[in-house]
Amino acid sequence: MESLLIRGGRIIDPASGLDATGDVLIVDGRIADIETGSTLDPPQAEVIDAEGCIVCPGLLDIHVHFRDPHQGQLHEETIGSGSASAVAGGFTTVACMPNTAPALDDPTWIGHVIQRGRERDLARIHAIGCGTIGRKGREIAPIGELVAAGAIGISDDGDGIEDDAMMRSVLEAVHEHDTCFMQHCQVPSMTRGAAMNAGPLATRLGLIGWPVEAEEAMIERDLTINADIGARYHAQHLSSGGSVDLIRAARSTGQPATGEASPHHLLLTEAACDGYDTSAKMNPPLRTESDIARLKEGIADGTISILATDHAPHPAHSKATDFASASFGIVGLECALPLYKQALIDDGVLDWPSMLAMMTTAPAALVGLDASGAGRLETGGIADITIIDPDLEWRIDPDAFRSKGRNCPFTGWSVQGRALATIVGGRLRHHIEGIEARLPGSLLQG
Ligand SMILES: [Zn+2]
Repeated sequence: MESLLIRGGRIIDPASGLDATGDVLIVDGRIADIETGSTLDPPQAEVIDAEGCIVCPGLLDIHVHFRDPHQGQLHEETIGSGSASAVAGGFTTVACMPNTAPALDDPTWIGHVIQRGRERDLARIHAIGCGTIGRKGREIAPIGELVAAGAIGISDDGDGIEDDAMMRSVLEAVHEHDTCFMQHCQVPSMTRGAAMNAGPLATRLGLIGWPVEAEEAMIERDLTINADIGARYHAQHLSSGGSVDLIRAARSTGQPATGEASPHHLLLTEAACDGYDTSAKMNPPLRTESDIARLKEGIADGTISILATDHAPHPAHSKATDFASASFGIVGLECALPLYKQALIDDGVLDWPSMLAMMTTAPAALVGLDASGAGRLETGGIADITIIDPDLEWRIDPDAFRSKGRNCPFTGWSVQGRALATIVGGRLRHHIEGIEARLPGSLLQG
């Protein structure tokens, strides 16, 4: 019997509302006891000193790109490097988007991703299946088979589904198979060649603008179709304030629609593209201060209930080119937590329990992982736990990332808050250097 005691931390469990100093005992990979009244002192338990730290459910990120399968050579990321990046950022569970090569439109590939994740044995790796074959929007994917093979959601991420009739069929299938649909909200005909937010800055830089309407029009269309279907509909990586208004209105009629935010859309504006810095090239693009304010309003009132990273590694050469030709996206897993703290807690939008709810309880519920105990701390439940030092100051250095990706616009930022240790199924899967005094020797040798 292996027992591990996490002693003296601020235990935050958004699912139960617990927020108190105490001890968490893990026995054989499961939470055996949570004690906030007195201290636990079980014989033979190894002790992690969590004083001054937050002890919370392992973080979930339902939007990552680990680039496996990838025909030809794996160069951008692998499930191994992605998993290492996840636990380094405090994430114990991630969902991989299906825009791989080939796309995850076949049950065999869903099984492949899950199996690779098990072999790497760091974070829990899940797969999202395609809505349409090859993500091309023309032929519906075998959604029931994908779900049966283990897909925890459906998306054509990287592309939105443009055809109205196809969107309806996909939402009906998603509803029938009790899963969720995650839309990449981009009308292709409105964004051809677009590189950044439409407006005076794009004009001055000589770049093709990407209007907010390209995002909003797809969300509006989807919510109209879904009004009489009632599928779990999730709008990914929102960039526009108008999108928040649309989702808020649909939710007020009882439609199960949710919104998602990413760190870069809350901390950076289109101004980051000035000077043609390709690390600021995102899909959807960075917008304006007004959009950021409206996204934060949507977070404060629950319209946006899920925080994700859209972790999107790219090889250096695909960013070391002119702005119009560079790849979209950034890596996010290893710096998301302090960036969210800066955007949301330091700005007074959320407190720690409500922010952690958006990284644990809410994403687990959307993809149905709450049934397996993910995203919460409870006696008898799986011991996926993140220990966070909310005050630790550090500098973001992509060269130190476990991810293979280095494309990050936050390079050199001084931030506060970091996952010190990440525990998956009762086993320490990551700890940062310098906290060895908090950890029992046996864990360090293991
Ligand atoms: Zn996307």
